[in-house]
Amino acid sequence: MFPRGSAKITTMKLIYDLDFHTLTEILTQWNEPAYRAKQVWQGLYQHLYNSPEQFANLPKSLREKMVEEFTFTAFTVKTYLDSSDKSTRKTLFQLPDGNLIEAVLMRYGDPADDPHPSPSPASGRGAKKRRTLCISTQAGCAMGCVFCATGQLGFKRNLTSGEIVAQVMYYAQMLKEQNEVVSNVVFMGMGEPFHNYDNTMSAIDRLNDADGYNFGARRFTISTVGLVPQIRRFADEQRQVNLAISLHAADDDERLAIMPVNKRYKIDDIIEACKYYIEKTHRRVTFEWALINGVNDTPEVAQKLAARLKGLLCHVNAIPLNPTQGYSGEATSRQRADLFKETLEQAGIPCSIRMRRGIDINAGCGQLAGAESKNQAHKTVLL
Ligand code: SAH
Ligand code: SF4
Repeated sequence: MFPRGSAKITTMKLIYDLDFHTLTEILTQWNEPAYRAKQVWQGLYQHLYNSPEQFANLPKSLREKMVEEFTFTAFTVKTYLDSSDKSTRKTLFQLPDGNLIEAVLMRYGDPADDPHPSPSPASGRGAKKRRTLCISTQAGCAMGCVFCATGQLGFKRNLTSGEIVAQVMYYAQMLKEQNEVVSNVVFMGMGEPFHNYDNTMSAIDRLNDADGYNFGARRFTISTVGLVPQIRRFADEQRQVNLAISLHAADDDERLAIMPVNKRYKIDDIIEACKYYIEKTHRRVTFEWALINGVNDTPEVAQKLAARLKGLLCHVNAIPLNPTQGYSGEATSRQRADLFKETLEQAGIPCSIRMRRGIDINAGCGQLAGAESKNQAHKTVLL
């Protein structure tokens, strides 16, 4: 019924799905004293334990109860791939129902190389050495952007908040063994985070909790295809999380040709929603731009984009397209990318060109899961 290597279906609760309040309620029902919930929470999110046996400060009876009632395993590792310079690791996880998701760790010696920089400088958690995680919010994606490997897969399902949290915990535990910590988390893996709004936000809240993992809101970046009502809701909530909008075109017809969502939300509506977000939060918005040779990388397009973004507290993050099997578009050359940036900047819009990491390991969003679903995974490193 399930592909090989699948995890066993379980009816046990995924412990990462529980918020502190729910965990407290469960432990109270088990007649545990009030302080136990805090001990479990600290074990999970401060000590990064990943099995009940590690909770040496808990009585054996409680550890046994946890083994019976909770699972710590959100997924199994199906494949992982390291880039040739070892700076990037991409892991393909298999969920208990057989669906596949990806999460990528990118190590940066120099923060200027980070293709997913957050406006707030890293400090504390490894200021110079960035460890950026790119995680998934859905298995597949319903938005159908033609250039995107995840879009080409289609929508499978939303991830639970615990499945989102578990991706961070997986890498946090791995980095801990090397005396390192996660410095940034970007929601730029598979899926559209604003199409799974509640679970994404509760994952952020859980990771942000000061008594737990204590990961600062400003270290998260949400990237959205531009779902207008959710941008407004996000603005109203006044979160300190960074917001990136995947724009990729400066004209509605051109955007519609590569991003079906533009039928529903036009560029003007997205920009209005961004204005509202900036008014509410005073935070800078990033516009993501995948540079596609001859499609959206000309100086004319750059000028059109600059005119649309004029006066907005924003920044353009342009990355040459990562070619995918299902789309014939090609990556822009470095030269054309530089001209695009120059044109935007002359018109007053700040722009960075980021080179994609890990192209040699199919690190573009959804590429590994796409390959695996076609049974063509690049199996140079296989567990
Ligand atoms: N669904 C969200 C977040 C996941 S995609 C969104 O679309 O924003 C993360 C980023 O990767 C987006 O900016 C997306 O447009 C971009 N992307 C997807 N496929 C790409 C490709 N083949 N080459 C370059 N960027 C790509
Ligand atoms: Fe979905 Fe983002 Fe890919 Fe578009 S680019 S299909 S929204 S994951």
